[in-house]
Amino acid sequence: MSNKIPVGILGATGAVGQNYINLLRDHPWFEVAYVAASPRSAGKKYGEVVANKWLLGANVPGGIADLVIEDANFPDKAKGKCRFVFSALELDSKDEIKALENAYAALGIPVVSNASAHRWTENVPMLIPEINASHLDVIAAQKKAHGWDSGFVVVKPNCSIQSYMIPVYALMKAGYEVKRMFVSTMQAVSGAGYPGVPSLDMIDNVVPFIGGEEEKTEKEPSKIFGTVESGKIVNFDGLKVAAHCNRVPVIDGHTACVSLEFGAKKPSLEEIERIWTSFRGLPQELGLPFAPEVPIIVRHETNRPQPRRDRNEGKGMAVSVGRLRECPLFDVRFVGLSHNTVRGAAGGGILNAELLKAKGFFG
Ligand code: NAP
Repeated sequence: MSNKIPVGILGATGAVGQNYINLLRDHPWFEVAYVAASPRSAGKKYGEVVANKWLLGANVPGGIADLVIEDANFPDKAKGKCRFVFSALELDSKDEIKALENAYAALGIPVVSNASAHRWTENVPMLIPEINASHLDVIAAQKKAHGWDSGFVVVKPNCSIQSYMIPVYALMKAGYEVKRMFVSTMQAVSGAGYPGVPSLDMIDNVVPFIGGEEEKTEKEPSKIFGTVESGKIVNFDGLKVAAHCNRVPVIDGHTACVSLEFGAKKPSLEEIERIWTSFRGLPQELGLPFAPEVPIIVRHETNRPQPRRDRNEGKGMAVSVGRLRECPLFDVRFVGLSHNTVRGAAGGGILNAELLKAKGFFG
């Protein structure tokens, strides 16, 4: 019998859920023991439900194809079958997702979520482990506030901001104040879930609007760069962000064109490159299985990074940056790219879970 930690996936049949199944197939610590989705899929075998909508090249892993899908709306069914769950749920409202994730936590099942519902709950960490692993300190207060024993909720941020948050943080950590950021994103269709944007809206086209995305892009950095004080996360208000978010006909990989304005002390382009190439975070120090060895990959070609060529760097967990140059409006500008369904979704969730395990949160 395996001594890996049995995990569940809520929303296992969707775009993010499928990525969890795929990425966890040979995970050294975790194994998928429980899959849940909507009442439409409940009672059927996983392999049958995803047969015509499997988005990944490889086949559904053998042992998983035969698992019978449960209805994610009944947390009791997961009890005793998995130690924690990854939540990749899409329900009608954020309140419903919040209530359901809380119900799992109340049963003693920790929730590592991709959904945005809990991102603004002040005692729920919104993690990018290279940046704010210290926010795990708030979990004790979260458990106490709810009277939860071993259950809790952590979330990951929006997928598109992953393309530049670690590079921006690396500069802040090196002592450079970043005061203003202008960002324009080109986001892949897989970010909209399955079946996503209709093909006739997307092929030969760019859609200059993604509902709620600009608000998330402008707000989430303030929580991620925040500090834990008296059992809650206090947002950082020193960075102003303006965002344009666009959907483009790319399958995977969110690209962002970013301009930064620094405070009085301004790094040279050479210094920025040195900071980025040498940056390592806690996941790298701990040697977490999903931590990319080099979290920021600097490219020097005039036309990189590109989604098709660079999204799989570091097994989809690294951020690629390029076109670093001066900016006539702010100080510097660059292009960032990350894999939205790996680093931006399932891979990011797995890295969060690895950090939690390494820090003893799963008992
Ligand atoms: P998706 O492809 O639409 O999948 C949604 C999942 O939720 C499916 O498994 C679906 O099951 C299940 N579901 C739908 N209605 C349900 C119900 N009433 N009760 C229980 N389960 C239900 O969405 P996705 O793109 O994977 O996104 C999942 C979550 O991750 C969302 O909250 C999204 O905002 C977030 N996220 C997505 C990305 C990305 O790149 N796609 C990135 C970051 C975060 P059925 O198959 O049975 O309908």
